[in-house]
Amino acid sequence: RVVVGTKVDMHHVNWVTAYNMLTGIRFTVSRTNAKLDRELTDADFDARHKFSFDITGNELTPSAKYDFKFKDYAPWVFRHLRAKFMLDPADYLMSLTSKYILSELGSPGKSGSFFYFSRDYKYIIKTIHHAEHKLLRKILREYYAHIERNPNTLISQFYGLHRVKIPYGRKIHFVVMNNLFPPHRDIHQTFDLKGSTIGRDFKEEDLEKNPRATLKDLNWLRRDNHFEFGPRKKSLFIEQMKRDVALLQKLKIMDYSMLVGIHDLEKGNEENLRDKTLQVFNPGGELEGEPQLNPISRTPSKLEHARKAKELRQIIRREKPVPMDKSTSKMPDEMLEERKNLVFYSDDGGFRATHEDGQPGEEIYYLGIIDCLTHYGFVKRAEHLWKGMSAPKNQISPIPPEPYGERFMKFISGLSKTKEEVEREAQASEQL
Ligand code: ATP
Ligand code: CA
Ligand code: CA
Repeated sequence: RVVVGTKVDMHHVNWVTAYNMLTGIRFTVSRTNAKLDRELTDADFDARHKFSFDITGNELTPSAKYDFKFKDYAPWVFRHLRAKFMLDPADYLMSLTSKYILSELGSPGKSGSFFYFSRDYKYIIKTIHHAEHKLLRKILREYYAHIERNPNTLISQFYGLHRVKIPYGRKIHFVVMNNLFPPHRDIHQTFDLKGSTIGRDFKEEDLEKNPRATLKDLNWLRRDNHFEFGPRKKSLFIEQMKRDVALLQKLKIMDYSMLVGIHDLEKGNEENLRDKTLQVFNPGGELEGEPQLNPISRTPSKLEHARKAKELRQIIRREKPVPMDKSTSKMPDEMLEERKNLVFYSDDGGFRATHEDGQPGEEIYYLGIIDCLTHYGFVKRAEHLWKGMSAPKNQISPIPPEPYGERFMKFISGLSKTKEEVEREAQASEQL
């Protein structure tokens, strides 16, 4: 599958922003990685560094195509976080290094955030509001401590926090995080679950137009879906959920959801929806730039990938900024070996269904808790402002973080049942 958006190339309106984002990331990440590793200090959490890029370059920054300012937040903390999430530094840079790197998923949510995928679909750049940015900086110590104690957290993995600004432009804050969905597998169904039913329905009739749409709580219930985890996986999942939700409650965060992607092994990748998906986000529109090939067919060989990774490692050691990659970056056909140690990403990047007897099931779940940078106080203020105007019709009053978390926990943990349980229940009800 791959959530394919619109490719951001030179003709795209957001090309300059995207280019600046990546140039900044590339420079700051290789700058930090070039240094000898060390323990974090308290000051690392509040650190921020500002860089000016221009066409000529100076002794600090290399020359760039455009004039812009780039701010890098807590670079050492994120370096350590990336290591905890078992990312290979060279691999991270490489994913964010190819020339036309990104595809843009417009703004799928109501929040107005933009999403960009790295060329290999492993990473997502999400633009965030200033309030979300401030929140992440404020909770960074607790987030870090949580990751240390919970390497298998389901909460979004944050790899970097940055800001770009072009002359006379506005400040754009953004995070780099994990794409929960794998680059190499079709996702047959996607759900965004909050545990609420109000307004949580994607119109079923619209599914025809948009077969890859993200469905919601009511669509899940209507389908009578279940996580077929089996007892062992279920308890792992629920245990981790409890810890993650407890953190979010403590930090007074709400409005997050469980993103679920389901890959059906029986259907496999046959549908090859890549090209179709493109039209979903780009209705009727022609793509600019080079013709769209199936990204898979452009996959450089493993060997080539290894060669490039080695080159990058050498560059990092020599403390040079990483050059712009002229070729396309790889489309991995499997997940990084090291990441298989992360429980919920261990079955080909996801968490595989299991039967009661422990045999593997037919589905792989790709899941995680997303959109977790909304502070209760902020939502309440926003609602307050809205009330003065005519209230939007699907407005839901925000519920405080404690009950929000409880409801979320209750709903999600209630969704897990094995296939056998479901069958037994069906038989029992037939006999009635
Ligand atoms: P809103 O605040 O209106 O809910 P938002 O702009 O904050 O929207 P999110 O809720 O973070 O956006 O995400 C919107 C959609 O983008 C999700 O439903 C999902 O389809 C996709 N998405 C977000 N984060 C990820 C991720 N880490 N991996 C894969 N897909 C993601
Ligand atoms: Ca959301
Ligand atoms: Ca949001």
